[in-house]
Amino acid sequence: MADSIDCAGESIPWKEGLTGTEIFSSDRTVIAMWLNGEPADLSRELNAGDSIAPITIDSDAGLDILRHSTGHVTAQAVQELFPGTKLGIGPYITDGYYFDFDVAEPFTPEDLKAIQKRAAQIVKSGQTFNRVVVTEDEARQRMANEPFKLELIDDKGHASDGDSAVEVGAGELTVYENIDRKGEVVWQDLCRGPHLPNTKLIGNGFAITRSSAAYWRGDQSNASLQRVYGTAWASKDDLKAYQDRIAEAERRDHRKIGAELDLFSFPEELGSGLPVFHPKGGVIKREMEDYVRARHIEEGFEYVGTPHISKESLYYTSGHLPYYGENMFPAMSVDEVRDESGQVVKDGTPYRLKAMNCPMHNLIYRSRGRSYRDLPLRLFEFGTVYRDEASGVIHGLTRVRALTQDDSHSYVAQEDAGAEIRHLLNFVLSLLRDFGLDDFYLELSTRDEEGKKADKFIGSDEQWTEATRVLEEVAQETGLELVPDPGGAAFYGPKISVQARDAIGRTWQMSTVQLDFNQPERFELEYVAADGTRQQPVMIHSAKFGSIERFLGVLTEHYAGAFPVWLAPVQVTCIPVADEFNDYLAEVAAQLRAAGVRVEIDDSDDRFGKKIRNASKSKVPFTLIAGGEDRDAGAVSFRFRSGEQDNGVPVAEAVARILDAIETKAQV
Ligand SMILES: [Zn+2]
Ligand SMILES: [Zn+2]
Repeated sequence: MADSIDCAGESIPWKEGLTGTEIFSSDRTVIAMWLNGEPADLSRELNAGDSIAPITIDSDAGLDILRHSTGHVTAQAVQELFPGTKLGIGPYITDGYYFDFDVAEPFTPEDLKAIQKRAAQIVKSGQTFNRVVVTEDEARQRMANEPFKLELIDDKGHASDGDSAVEVGAGELTVYENIDRKGEVVWQDLCRGPHLPNTKLIGNGFAITRSSAAYWRGDQSNASLQRVYGTAWASKDDLKAYQDRIAEAERRDHRKIGAELDLFSFPEELGSGLPVFHPKGGVIKREMEDYVRARHIEEGFEYVGTPHISKESLYYTSGHLPYYGENMFPAMSVDEVRDESGQVVKDGTPYRLKAMNCPMHNLIYRSRGRSYRDLPLRLFEFGTVYRDEASGVIHGLTRVRALTQDDSHSYVAQEDAGAEIRHLLNFVLSLLRDFGLDDFYLELSTRDEEGKKADKFIGSDEQWTEATRVLEEVAQETGLELVPDPGGAAFYGPKISVQARDAIGRTWQMSTVQLDFNQPERFELEYVAADGTRQQPVMIHSAKFGSIERFLGVLTEHYAGAFPVWLAPVQVTCIPVADEFNDYLAEVAAQLRAAGVRVEIDDSDDRFGKKIRNASKSKVPFTLIAGGEDRDAGAVSFRFRSGEQDNGVPVAEAVARILDAIETKAQV
């Protein structure tokens, strides 16, 4: 309608000069608005026919605006405290924001405190954010002392996204002014906005968190800048809850716990992203592997083995090259022959480190004729693969360069794909539950239909539509929440991934189930159907843990190092109250050991109290104590991680209790 605007589905009469400020004046939590689908300042003048909706401060879009606005205030504080500082970019990020500065000296912790204090004063002073549309010339005049901003203005037109999107982007150029109570412009920045109406709305839910070095536009050949990070929330309580989450995550950091409990390490000498498992970490890893191998075999999988390198040409057949090339380590030349002078007389054959197990499993499938009676053929192995991850993204065990997948490939008749995916998904969920993860949602990753990555996907439209339909149907049957992930598919087919929430509510992508029509075609896989015709199977890729390394990292954080009994490197520590009970406890330990329990006896010279503290620090599930009373009664006393005790338990009952906890995968 020509003389009205649409406000969240309701028609509001339009008049000259009408703004969102006026429309949403009665609701103080509304800090910006959707204007024809884009976030915008409330103060924007509306045109007849516009469609708007409120953005509240605690919504995702609202928090982004709050965080970016806090970035402006932080930058204003920095320029006031450190005159001559030049501005880089300052976008919002997950949970916060950063702002880059060209400053003479790196910021010290005291500097950051001073910035926080000054920013808080600016917040309180109630400056308004004022959007001004400017011409390029005007923008240059206003930003005359800001060389980086001038560069962004010059770039406008070339770059419509990327790191300068916050400042310029597509459309008109805008500057945001900060206006104080006297009506004076006290600060300004080149920015697309939107912003809060007033700095007061930032309140006391923000904190400057840290600073680090950064390069202009992330390029090491550019100027070195100082990046100040902050976090901002709709309330002080929300900020506190966030800070508690961060502290808890730090306490659970698997790299820290891995070192404390002597589980694994990341030797510099070995290279980045290449972990080693120490004996105690090796126990957990072995338990995981043994259990998962046994479960696969129960579920009809056959255990196979494949090498770590192969001819490069195999990956061209599979399509991993060139599609997945950037994640693979460079080729090495094998069987090259040189003469005495070093001249190549026979070219080598390029080989690659394995990045995926599927091509090799396809060769096992193809090694003989297959009939419909062989299907489903389910191949499984612990396949170690190597991925050339950028050193910047490598993180502990959760992002590594060498990882061992519990990888399986099911080859099935096309009409049985749905049933096999159902089988796999149920299998995956039951496995994760056995490891103590039971809060899941599913993500359905499909191909990018027409975006810029559309040509990254191989296969026909019909194949993709059918594969996506099958996955979606099976995913919905689980009754779990299903989140779409358009564009997130592998190049050869759509996938379902299982996202698990850990003990502190973080989500981790664990298992994946991928349907693939492409590799069977590329490898010319076939089977003889019941009617004697030759048919092509479909293959379903599935990794249940994702990788052993990553899963162990996630479990370490989920349990904060206090593993359930069946996974614990040491399950029982025996502590005699005094030396004279060493022999008695050694007998108990021998009984447990004979039953397959991982048991240690602390007969060191440490005092009793120290031994108890050491056992507690090692997070051992059961500590068994014995003194005179216990020995006389043929009993032991349990001490649990919580510090609680259960005294005078007859030895036979103690052994049975421990075995039961292992058997039932209990947490104690
Ligand atoms: Zn801005
Ligand atoms: Zn695969």
